[in-house]
Amino acid sequence: MNARPKTHHGKRESSSRFVIQQHAASSLHYDFRLEIDGVLVSWAVPRGLSTDPSVKRLAIRTEDHPLAYIDFEGVIPQGEYGAGTVLVWDSGTYRNLRAEKGRASVGMREALDDGLVEVWLDGAKLAGGYALKRTDRGARERWLAIKMRDARADARRNPVSTETESVKTGRNLDRIAADAGDD
Ligand code: MN
Repeated sequence: MNARPKTHHGKRESSSRFVIQQHAASSLHYDFRLEIDGVLVSWAVPRGLSTDPSVKRLAIRTEDHPLAYIDFEGVIPQGEYGAGTVLVWDSGTYRNLRAEKGRASVGMREALDDGLVEVWLDGAKLAGGYALKRTDRGARERWLAIKMRDARADARRNPVSTETESVKTGRNLDRIAADAGDD
């Protein structure tokens, strides 16, 4: 492993956490959340993130979530916000690629305002560079999530279809729902 690159300012950029939670709500989607300034900045990605750089996935910006939500897996009862089953589909750390050496240093908040987020993910299922580009501001911001072309890109993998278990507990959605029903 290489040492973590220095930022433009010579400081070592500390890594922050990310999570992707599969969420069987009124429609199935994947909530991609990045820890930024103590909250989870979030997008709902209906088809999940791809490892194929030729694929663009719609990502709708949603409400920031409390950092404590990063580990949540279980069932949110009917009638509550986000009702449905939640599975920790991937988790790990990320780095802000726009803050790294050789680039005009852009912080994550500035990147969000800019509409261009570029991060390096170190997850159990997903790894490498991902770009999120805002395409529509509106009341619900629309972004596109795209795998960057790097050594971790792989057009043959399709982890959303083939790696469906929780990285936290190994359970699938049905098992999580069944376990919640056992209370
Ligand atoms: Mn959701």
